[in-house]
Amino acid sequence: MAENDTPVSNGDPAHAPERKHWKHLYSEIVATEICTGCAACVVACPHHVIEMQDFRPAMQDSLLGIDNCQHGEDGCSLCAMACLRLDPDFDAIEHLLYGRRRKHPSEPWGVTRKMMLGRTSSSDIMTKGQDGGVVTAIIGWMLSTGELDGATCAKPMKDTPWLDEPFVATTPEELLTGAGSRYTYCSTPLALKMAAERKLKKVAAIGVSCESTAVREMAAEGIKRWSRMVKFVAGLMCNETFQYEPFINDIVQGRYGIDISQVTKINVKGDVYVTLTDGTDVRIPLKECQETSNEWCHHCPDFAAEHADISFGGIGLKGWTMCLIRTEYGEDVWNRAVAAGVIEVMPAEEDPAGLKVLERLAKKQRFRVGPFEPQASGRWPVREVLDRVRREALAEYQGASAPE
Ligand SMILES: Cc1cc2nc3c(=O)[nH]c(=O)nc-3n(C[C@H](O)[C@H](O)[C@H](O)COP(=O)(O)OP(=O)(O)OC[C@H]3O[C@@H](n4cnc5c(N)ncnc54)[C@H](O)[C@@H]3O)c2cc1C
Ligand code: SF4
Ligand code: SF4
Repeated sequence: MAENDTPVSNGDPAHAPERKHWKHLYSEIVATEICTGCAACVVACPHHVIEMQDFRPAMQDSLLGIDNCQHGEDGCSLCAMACLRLDPDFDAIEHLLYGRRRKHPSEPWGVTRKMMLGRTSSSDIMTKGQDGGVVTAIIGWMLSTGELDGATCAKPMKDTPWLDEPFVATTPEELLTGAGSRYTYCSTPLALKMAAERKLKKVAAIGVSCESTAVREMAAEGIKRWSRMVKFVAGLMCNETFQYEPFINDIVQGRYGIDISQVTKINVKGDVYVTLTDGTDVRIPLKECQETSNEWCHHCPDFAAEHADISFGGIGLKGWTMCLIRTEYGEDVWNRAVAAGVIEVMPAEEDPAGLKVLERLAKKQRFRVGPFEPQASGRWPVREVLDRVRREALAEYQGASAPE
């Protein structure tokens, strides 16, 4: 818990802060639709009584109903501790990673040591990768040298194209099967369970912004059973995710008549571009797709995956990945990958337009849950607070310089 957020106790047990467990997680985060579906609570639960159902954690033990947990009543609080939305400790996370908090307002994309553009030197990865294939190139190389023994990530489901399932890759070849982006949600932290079953000890956690913070929150809360296996966090910048059925079935296939079996890539570059096997692109206005975005994303302030070792995004130059190198270890990995010829790189300053887009998107995303501080800095606001800050932000920005 952040130092300045510690509830005041006057020594009277009646005023001691209530220890939170599933009951609170359910009422404050799941029922209010702030839950991102990251599955960290499911992973952390030592009693195996919560499971993911349709991107929501659901109580499987019917003893006290869906909204309470007997183990929680008996003293367990691991699910609540693991949640990045329920009282997250950003102070602890950022001090652990960077020795300081993000500076407001000069670091809207979070703490960085270096900002670079990169692309893989492998033609196989370039073909399958979303942008410059840097995620697959670096993590694949770390798997090949033994620096990692696994990577938790996402790969398309066999029978449902463009919907992913969590997956753990142990070789560069396996990792390549998940290369590219699907803009539907995938609870990648759930793959930590698969990694544990396979007794893996040095894992890269690949995932969108909320998932990067989820694994850090477990570390900050001392949930070592899971956090100690995560050696490297590869964050994917993320503005929103779309619901599979309305996005793929209703819009891509229904409204635009696209044969989904002919789609090789879906990318968001201002608008949504669907690339077909014959190389043509079909443009779908982003606004149309945004009607299908997941509710929880509207409450997410973190575009740039601020708690990753390195964050990766598709902003800017075509065929290159924007890479924000954040931690000392991230920089070390980056420098060694460059020296090993795994990636080609150039400073992000060589693409000033890309940097402008990064700044605009990072600011805009913070704005959607209200002003920078204090709401987006320490503990997470619940629904009522979010509604209030949104109203305040609107009032504040009327006539002023609101991000577009
Ligand atoms: C849901 C989503 C939204 C994104 N939104 C933006 C955005 O708004 N702006 C932006 O600049 N960049 C965004 N990105 C990041 C961008 O699409 C690329 O992932 C990034 O630029 C890295 O490209 P690459 O070629 O280096 O990655 P690759 O080498 O192609 O590797 C991509 C990795 O992403 C994993 N992955 C694919 N789909 C998912 C998923 N749904 N959930 C979790 N992991 C997944 C794969 O397992 C793979 O390991 C988003 C990514 C995702 C997954
Ligand atoms: S840990 Fe993740 S899945 Fe669980 S309640 Fe929190 S946000 Fe939702
Ligand atoms: S916008 Fe935020 S909450 Fe939504 S999937 Fe992306 S990182 Fe998670």
